[in-house]
Amino acid sequence: MRDFSLDRAKMVRDQIERRGIKHPAVLTAMNKIPRHLFVSMEYQSEAYADHPLPIGFGQTISQPYIVALMTELIQPDQQDCVLEIGTGSGYQAAILSQLVRQVHSIDRHAELVKGAQRVADQLKLTNIQFHVGDGSLGLPENGPYDAILITAAAPQIPKPLLAQLKVGGRLVLPVGERWQQKLERWIRTTEETYDHEQDIPVSFVPLLGEFGWSESDW
Ligand code: SAM
Repeated sequence: MRDFSLDRAKMVRDQIERRGIKHPAVLTAMNKIPRHLFVSMEYQSEAYADHPLPIGFGQTISQPYIVALMTELIQPDQQDCVLEIGTGSGYQAAILSQLVRQVHSIDRHAELVKGAQRVADQLKLTNIQFHVGDGSLGLPENGPYDAILITAAAPQIPKPLLAQLKVGGRLVLPVGERWQQKLERWIRTTEETYDHEQDIPVSFVPLLGEFGWSESDW
């Protein structure tokens, strides 16, 4: 098996640090987690390139920089319990596992969750719990969460997820139309109030579900 550690260090330096990601623990996690294990053999040589890659079922593992940016935007803390919606390959969940106490990650594709669990077991990432289902409803049984990360594009902020944030909690997601969305960060400031701000334009696959897109509208 090829040693990808130099490719990984170059990815962190050229794609992530150079674009302004500063959080030391985020950079350490991106340097440590072997991204090539989260893609099929066919794509392993491209695993550290500056773009998303197919992972089957019409889905993608996000560009490394976007993973780092979204992770930094949730302001992870070692004591946090975080919900990720859109497990996909399991790479984002693996990065989060290095930064917080507990990760819950949910996807609507059982096969993707099975693959993600397999890699997490291989890497002995014991603080990730995977779930199958419609993540646009959140996962109330394990909440409220310190942070929620949605790695699929929503037409608007899914209301149940705002309710599953702790006061002081952060929610990061892409919101917008089919080809172009904006990353948004929502912060629960009190039981009743939220602040939100927009970050860079992005392009994600859809969040399909009750509080996401319907297949016919996307
Ligand atoms: N975070 C992933 C990774 O690290 O590989 C990439 C996520 S991919 C861009 C988006 C994922 O969202 C897909 O795996 C898709 O199946 C999932 N998804 C879409 N709608 C969903 C929903 N309602 N609930 C849960 N997962 C959903």
